[in-house]
Amino acid sequence: MKKEDLQLLQQNVTLLRAEGKYKETIEACYHLLRCGMELHDHKSILIAHLNNAASYYCIGDIEEAFASIGAYDEVCSKYGDETDQLHLYNVLFLLYEYNKDFDKAKETLEKSIELGKKLKKFNIISNGYSNYSHVYIVEENYADALEMAKMGLAMAKLHQPASPILELRVKLNMAEAYIGLGDFGASRSLIDEMMNDPVFDSFIREKSQFYMLQGSWYSKQNLYREAFESLTYAKELVESYHDVYLLKFIQEERCKLCERMDDIHLGYTVQKEYISLLNEISNREIALAALKLDVKHSLTAIEKKANTDYLTGLYNRNYLETTANVWLKQASERNESIVCIVFDIDNFKLINDEYGHLFGDEVIKQVGEACSKIMGENELIGRYGGDEFVVIVKGASLERGKKKAELIKETVENLQMKKDGKSVSIKTSMGVADNSDGTVMYFNDLFHAADVGLYKAKQNGRNQICVQ
Ligand code: GH3
Ligand code: MG
Repeated sequence: MKKEDLQLLQQNVTLLRAEGKYKETIEACYHLLRCGMELHDHKSILIAHLNNAASYYCIGDIEEAFASIGAYDEVCSKYGDETDQLHLYNVLFLLYEYNKDFDKAKETLEKSIELGKKLKKFNIISNGYSNYSHVYIVEENYADALEMAKMGLAMAKLHQPASPILELRVKLNMAEAYIGLGDFGASRSLIDEMMNDPVFDSFIREKSQFYMLQGSWYSKQNLYREAFESLTYAKELVESYHDVYLLKFIQEERCKLCERMDDIHLGYTVQKEYISLLNEISNREIALAALKLDVKHSLTAIEKKANTDYLTGLYNRNYLETTANVWLKQASERNESIVCIVFDIDNFKLINDEYGHLFGDEVIKQVGEACSKIMGENELIGRYGGDEFVVIVKGASLERGKKKAELIKETVENLQMKKDGKSVSIKTSMGVADNSDGTVMYFNDLFHAADVGLYKAKQNGRNQICVQ
């Protein structure tokens, strides 16, 4: 894999997510992640984690989204630049808001605003304050919401080139804060100011928010019919981009207004719409749950594929190394012994030459299968490559390790392999070593010690065990 290929994978991930294919995005992200790790390309790793987080968020798997963000954060703090840091805050904010963890959401916004100030990016600062104001509104703290919105407006005005939508976003929150504070004059003049602003036509979400705001203002003035009309328009707008949760909120408000207007006929129609929406939400949640399950299944399959040896189904070298490193670290802390057994089939080339490669493959498979059957709970077997296998035994002395090696040797010898009526005997040579009272901390060192034993066993005429 070359760097240019990585770029294609990155583009693929971004494209899939833009198309809303979340399951495919997640799979592509894991692929990109593995390739990025292989080539030590931090950009790819960051892109994979970020898109994973956003995709998990979109399918409602918040736990996984947080896990991906945690991984992103780790790489970002070491290798990321400031733009990477901003991406982190933006996604984190969404997640905290979704979880209704408003303290954390605010903390994230503060960081984003701080960084925005450092980079003199007024759009980021303004959006930060605007979101902050929104969080205060949700918390019904309208005074602080207003303060934040005012700061957001000041920052929006500093942005070059001028960006009217930045100001509008802030003003929407500002007007809502005024309504919450009971200042209907100030909120009305903001609403009038925004009314018919052509900028809204390019920002449909904000436009629908404007009509919701207007509905809320009318409702507070007991002008229910006008409020209902505004919300109906907001509903039509939201239907065009189909945010079912926002629609649910609007329909609930419309139902309440029908009651207040005492309009039974209209109330009945709105109730019917509301119920069909609830059904849709429930179906959607079922579909999302199925998608989540599907993603989990394919991830398990991907993980399994990445950890196993294709021929034998045993663990591969990569998995052995990762797991053994964890075990060795624990063992040195707990003063435990760990044993490594390395074994290799004797004169395997001759078997291949005499009986063919396919039979050779079968021998490797049978050896793997027989040995995995005699592995205990704290024992791990993997194929290191070719005709070489590795066994790691946790919490065993060198003496017990040797016993295990003898058992493996015997098990392999007892395999009844036959080819064209002839029985083929399989012998092995083995090296055994331990972690020397916790001083060996890495798999590669432990493996090397056992491999020296294996080399000696071969030198001494094969078909034997050599303990280091
Ligand atoms: P020794 O006793 O010194 O181990 O001799 P050997 O003939 O077994 O030689 P060695 O272990 O160095 O080489 C193992 C051979 O196994 C080399 C390669 O041709 C063959 N081999 C490696 N992987 C596979 C495989 O997946 N399937 C088959 N059939 N053969 C393989
Ligand atoms: Mg061999």
